[in-house]
Amino acid sequence: MHTISNQSLKFTFDNSYVKLPDHFYCKLNPTPVKEPKLIKINDHLAVQLGMDPKWLGSKKGIEVLSGNVIFSGSEPIAMAYAGHQFGYWVPQLGDGRAIMLGEVLDKNNNRYDVQLKGSGLTPFSRQGDGRAWLGPVLREYIVSEAMFALNIPTTRALAAVTTGEIVKRENDLPGAILTRVASSHIRVGTFQYFAAKNDLRAIKKLADYVIGRHYLEIKEDKNPYVSLLRAFIKKQSLLIAKWLGIGFIHGVMNTDNMTLSGETIDYGPCAFMDNYNENIVYSSIDNYGRYAYNNQSNIAKWNIACFASSILPLINSNQKRSINIAKEIVEEFDDTFAEYWASEIRLKLGLKEKDSKDITLGSDLLVLMQKNSVDFTNTFRELSSLSNTKSILDKNFVTLFSDQMSINGWLSRWRDRLNSETHNDHDRKIAMLSYNPAYIPRNHRIEEAIQFALKDDYSFFDKLCEILSNPFNDQLSNINYKTPPLPREIVRQTFCGT
Ligand code: AMP
Ligand code: MG
Repeated sequence: MHTISNQSLKFTFDNSYVKLPDHFYCKLNPTPVKEPKLIKINDHLAVQLGMDPKWLGSKKGIEVLSGNVIFSGSEPIAMAYAGHQFGYWVPQLGDGRAIMLGEVLDKNNNRYDVQLKGSGLTPFSRQGDGRAWLGPVLREYIVSEAMFALNIPTTRALAAVTTGEIVKRENDLPGAILTRVASSHIRVGTFQYFAAKNDLRAIKKLADYVIGRHYLEIKEDKNPYVSLLRAFIKKQSLLIAKWLGIGFIHGVMNTDNMTLSGETIDYGPCAFMDNYNENIVYSSIDNYGRYAYNNQSNIAKWNIACFASSILPLINSNQKRSINIAKEIVEEFDDTFAEYWASEIRLKLGLKEKDSKDITLGSDLLVLMQKNSVDFTNTFRELSSLSNTKSILDKNFVTLFSDQMSINGWLSRWRDRLNSETHNDHDRKIAMLSYNPAYIPRNHRIEEAIQFALKDDYSFFDKLCEILSNPFNDQLSNINYKTPPLPREIVRQTFCGT
């Protein structure tokens, strides 16, 4: 494979994962593609990583983004991992359609993996073809960048290209490759992979690596692995509270899709809900609602328990004691999550001080939203603009609900609670408007962008990305993107990328 110098590009690779033992990954190059074409470069992210976006979008850059050529300094690998998929144990998964090119340090010295997704067969491909088609690539680009703009921890999209090759699914579809950037790609399933093999040395190496990369503050703790478990619980509790607060359903929260960094990863059959429904499931493969909106915190705890059981030998040399300690810590998830959820509710309702009844106030609103089939995002956005006393603007909020008597009752409770605080109402409004977005990646808009891209028209994709990069701004010329789908536009199912 050709390599290309990145000297003129002012960034260097600084690869650390490849320094771990050989059986953590397989070294291999991406498989070249026929005729790569650029879809999009994420200019801001490129600049953050010290890469020249113009160069990335040039002929040479596209060769790199499609895997036809690799940068000098890049040491491509496919990572090994296992996982529980829908609760069922799979001892070997691994990067079946992704190849990590290497790690780069950004301007603030933060370390990022740069990975090609859809870049050809690897030893972990199993029955897959190692490729991705255009739809899931655009979907991941749109949603991961939207999540970033919404201040939710996430992997990111640096670029997307088409390959000029056909990918066979139910139909023949255009192939594409996403360049994904992540704080790391270490998953609960990475730990499980080694735990299942009883490879204690590997578990310790991986845990130390994770602490060094993501949890430096606990390195000197008495038992850093106990601290790691606690710190991980905090990261995931925060993440899930944020997902719930934005109406996000991941759709495939298998243990291999949960990162130690606490970033959202592997956008497959995910979705943002339109109307609030706590039981909602979009994923076409989630037959029993295991990953339903309101089950996501339970699943996070389940996954964390899997992580805990993978590091048992590090927690205590006495297995019985280790199990007891781990169990106790995993049980702390409930309180930790409840605290993050309470603060999420407060932020969404514009409350600054803690009051034990805030959760009830929030839950009562959600119950009314569900009963009245009201749009999740628009409800909180409209609420944000109201003032702490009755006004003519109330109409915009109240008319979202068919049962107006109940919502008016709730509104006066909210105002009583607001007025129990001493904060300036104008500041409260501004805070709420910068917390409750006007724009989310609605399913029907993503679908529209994909359908037009299949006809080689990327203008809808570009426009959607642009709007979603600024989700807290009303963008008066784009208000139709705030509107929930018409009945005929509703997308009820989303599909994974395979
Ligand atoms: P995901 O749906 O991304 O969580 O993937 C689950 C597992 O299936 C991972 O090990 C992937 O690498 C693998 N996989 C998914 N799609 C493909 C594909 N087209 N070719 C090979 N492996 C795949
Ligand atoms: Mg995955």
